[in-house]
Amino acid sequence: MADYPNVTLLTHPLVQHKLTLLRRRETPTADFRQITRELSLLLAYEVTRDLPLERVPIDTPLEPMQAPALSGKKLCFVPILRAGTGILDGMLDLVPSARVGHIGLYRDPHTLIPVEYYLKLPEDLSERLVILVDPMLATGHSAAAAMTRIRQAGAQQLRFVCLLAAPEGLAIVHAEHPDVPVYTAAIDRGLDEHGYIRPGLGDAGDRLYGTK
Ligand code: URA
Repeated sequence: MADYPNVTLLTHPLVQHKLTLLRRRETPTADFRQITRELSLLLAYEVTRDLPLERVPIDTPLEPMQAPALSGKKLCFVPILRAGTGILDGMLDLVPSARVGHIGLYRDPHTLIPVEYYLKLPEDLSERLVILVDPMLATGHSAAAAMTRIRQAGAQQLRFVCLLAAPEGLAIVHAEHPDVPVYTAAIDRGLDEHGYIRPGLGDAGDRLYGTK
């Protein structure tokens, strides 16, 4: 997108429809979780669109052929705890062999600054395409901090996937990690004084896990 460099906005009608279902206040927890899973699969489809292929020899029941297969880098998904895990299942539906790392960050309620409390990543991170996931790119501080830590741990190739982004979050991520491509289903109006995306969909973690 011209206004937001390095951002891919998923305009597919199924993505947009499912996102609207998520936004609706009355969508119950079980539906919210299931729709998030479906949306995540579609996001995973888009973020892996340019994976390199190679021709490999196979035998069909009728004859041998050179058929395309994935080559090169393997994947690692890294959800930002806790809401990022809601996106993980749909991604693993599509790429079951991917490795999974976890990073735990919470926003200090007063400063909104991210504090790291958990980190577990595969040892061979540098050989993988790392896809960091979090449903909401709000202030951008957690995503940017997670990117910094994952890079310190050796990641060479990194992408970020979210359901919804605020312009403020996109600006922070782009300022701190301009080379990290961002994939999102929508860019909303902006943040309110509590750091929530407006119009948004509320607190993604609470809606996924029914904690409020
Ligand atoms: N996190 C959420 O879950 N929702 C927002 O709107 C912002 C951050």
